[in-house]
Amino acid sequence: MTIDISPVTTSRTDSLAISCVYAEESRGVFEDCLSGASISSDVEISGSVDDNGGCITLRISVRFGYGGECARCLDPVSGSFDALIERTVITDPEIPEETDEDYVSAPDGKLDLDAVILEELLLTFPTKLLCSESCPGICPKCGRKKKDGECGCDKKEIDPRLKILEQLLEK
Ligand SMILES: [Zn+2]
Ligand SMILES: [Zn+2]
Repeated sequence: MTIDISPVTTSRTDSLAISCVYAEESRGVFEDCLSGASISSDVEISGSVDDNGGCITLRISVRFGYGGECARCLDPVSGSFDALIERTVITDPEIPEETDEDYVSAPDGKLDLDAVILEELLLTFPTKLLCSESCPGICPKCGRKKKDGECGCDKKEIDPRLKILEQLLEK
């Protein structure tokens, strides 16, 4: 969604509270950058846009719950995402290049909140969901989850190049 922050960019006020919710019908826009996870709650945005002597700053927190599968063992994984986003708001449509600061452009006081949140998700949402950092995954032979115990498969993983060597040695 696009929010109107023109009261701040036109100096009619120096602080504007932001509070909005992306409910089920509108939060799908974020799921493409969630590594296969789906959002299981409303996406709640709260914060403010403030003008500190001509420097306009957007500060919002983004919160939602998500669910997905462990990338190693495929067990269901759920978690919550909570991030604080801070951007310097400029009203020029062009973002200055060669800068370390995070800028967001709001021409005519219109700020594209979706774009700000998407950018943050791409940068900070885990690229792989794991049931635990140390998840041992599944046995490549029988598919049993290793955390459920030993499956008894032959663990000797033979490198295909070594396999050729082994065949030569057997002759
Ligand atoms: Zn796992
Ligand atoms: Zn096995």
